[in-house]
Amino acid sequence: MKHGVGRAVVAMVLAAWTTLTLLMINGGTQLVNRTSESVAHSPLYNFQPITIRLDRTNRDLTFPSWKYLQTGKIWSYVSGKQGIDPAFEPPLTDITDGTPSWIEDKRVQPMVKEPLEQLRQATAEAKLPVLVSSAYRSGTAQAKVRTETTAKNGAAHTDEYVAKPGHSEHQLGLAVDLTSFSEKCKARFSDCALDPKTASWLATHAHEYGFILRYPKGKEKITGIASEAWHFRYVGKDLASLIHESGLTFDEVYQNMVKLRDNASVAKSSPS
Ligand SMILES: [Zn+2]
Repeated sequence: MKHGVGRAVVAMVLAAWTTLTLLMINGGTQLVNRTSESVAHSPLYNFQPITIRLDRTNRDLTFPSWKYLQTGKIWSYVSGKQGIDPAFEPPLTDITDGTPSWIEDKRVQPMVKEPLEQLRQATAEAKLPVLVSSAYRSGTAQAKVRTETTAKNGAAHTDEYVAKPGHSEHQLGLAVDLTSFSEKCKARFSDCALDPKTASWLATHAHEYGFILRYPKGKEKITGIASEAWHFRYVGKDLASLIHESGLTFDEVYQNMVKLRDNASVAKSSPS
C-alpha cells in the first residue's frame, strides 16, 4: 500500500515534469523556427549565432541558424542532382510592380519582394530597366513547361534546358528571371530579351541587393546548367557579396556549408 502511494506520487511528478518539458521544447521550437534577425538577437532568447569561414574566401559569414539551409529557407539548394519534393510550396506573396501581363505566376517568397523591388528600381535609375519574366513556379507548372517544350523542341532539348519538377530554383520562390523592359516585351513574351549591357550591369550589381547570378558562364561543369544571364537567386546581401567577391558558385558554397554543418554536429555530439 505504502509502495502504491509512493509510485503514484512518482508517476504524478513524472507526468508534471514531462508536460513542463514538452511545453518548454514546444516554446523553444517556435522561437527557433522564426529564424529572423530580430529573434536571433533578442535578449529573451539566448541565441548563439554561427560564424563560418568558407574555403577560398577571406571573410567570415555570421548567421543565426543552420536552418538557413533547409528546403525553402534562404540558402536552400536544388540542382539537377539534388531535388526537393515536387509538391513543396514556400510562403508566397505577389510582386506588385515590374511584371508583364503574360506572367503565369507573379509570386515570390516575402523575403524576396522588397530586395527585388530595390534591384528593379536601381536598374531603372541606371537607365537599364528590367521586367520580371519568371518568378515562382510550382512543381506542376514546371512539369507543364517540360511537356510544352518537349512538344515544341524535343526531349533532348528539354532535358538540357528545362529542369525537372523538384529541380528548379523557381520552385523555391527565391529565384527570378529578368528581361530588358520594353512595351513590346510587356505585351508579348516572344518579344523579350535581356540586352548585354543590362546583363553586365546585373552581373556586377545584383549582389548589392542580395541576388547572385546563379549560373555564370564558364561554371557550367559545376552548376550543371548552361549559362543563364537572366536567372538571379536571392541569398541575402552578406552571402551574395561573398559569392560575388570570391567568384565561387552557390553549388560550391552550399556543399562547403553542409560539410561545416555536419562537422559541427559531429563535434557537438562527441564526448568532450
Ligand atoms: Zn530562371
